[in-house]
Amino acid sequence: MDKYGILAFPAHHSLSPAMHNAGFKALNIEAKYEFFEIHPRDLEAFIQKVRKENIKGLSVSKPHKEAIIPLLDEIDNTAQKIGAVNTVYWRKNKLVGTNVDWIGVEKAILEKTEIEGKKAVILGAGGAARAAVYALQNNHAKSVTVLNRTLSHAKALAEDFFCDYGELDDFESFRADILVQATSAGLNKKEGVEVVEKELLKPEMTVMDMIYTPLETRIIKDAREIGAKTITGDRMLLYQGVAAFEIWTSKKAPIDVMDRAIKKRLY
Ligand code: NDP
Repeated sequence: MDKYGILAFPAHHSLSPAMHNAGFKALNIEAKYEFFEIHPRDLEAFIQKVRKENIKGLSVSKPHKEAIIPLLDEIDNTAQKIGAVNTVYWRKNKLVGTNVDWIGVEKAILEKTEIEGKKAVILGAGGAARAAVYALQNNHAKSVTVLNRTLSHAKALAEDFFCDYGELDDFESFRADILVQATSAGLNKKEGVEVVEKELLKPEMTVMDMIYTPLETRIIKDAREIGAKTITGDRMLLYQGVAAFEIWTSKKAPIDVMDRAIKKRLY
């Protein structure tokens, strides 16, 4: 039986095993997707185990997305540009790293609105924000601006992607059509955190939050209440999972089955 898994620390909260195992089952693929909860100090030994046991693929999450890069045989241009790996697969005898988070962002947004010609603002400047900038630029957004709590982090990202940047408080001066909340503020907090004041949101905006626990974050609730289009974090999780599944299996992913597996655990 082929083995796959989520490499993270902690990993036990991940919905990826439920999503991928449902996909394998639906297609009668003899494979099991596991939790690989690996402490950073054990990462190198774990990658040796992946090679020895011929583990077929990995999803990579915090805190390993950058640290894994030197341990792989290759990373593709996308992972290089984003600066992080979230998916690992075998190509011939080489362990290759790629990043499909951007596909998650792209597909989740395109379900609700066009990107081409739109002004996009991204809150946050971490790895997930980098994937969002990549997705929006790839889809010809008119402008992409990164706003972050720590200005120097936004500046570093903006220099890599040739985009605008600023602080979270600058939000009002940018007339965003698409707003992507990519900070971890409010993660796992039921009451949420107000990253942007509700008064600054507009009904004509499309507002996405990458966080999916809780599913209805503060910004999603505020945006919904004022009549803006909203995109919850589970859509990104689903679409990046679908992209990884298709790389690993070379089969069309059973997207509805995988979506139901996520929803069963979130709703
Ligand atoms: P990082 O740790 O790389 O970046 C975190 C970002 O959040 C930084 O910009 C940081 O700002 C900002 N931040 C953290 N706390 C606060 C706060 N209290 N107020 C304002 N800003 C804050 O994380 P990632 O980029 O990897 O992930 C970001 C979020 O996206 C996470 O919540 C993660 O769960 C989610 N995610 C969802 C995915 C999905 O499939 N739906 C996939 C990947 C990520 P500063 O620079 O100032 O520290």
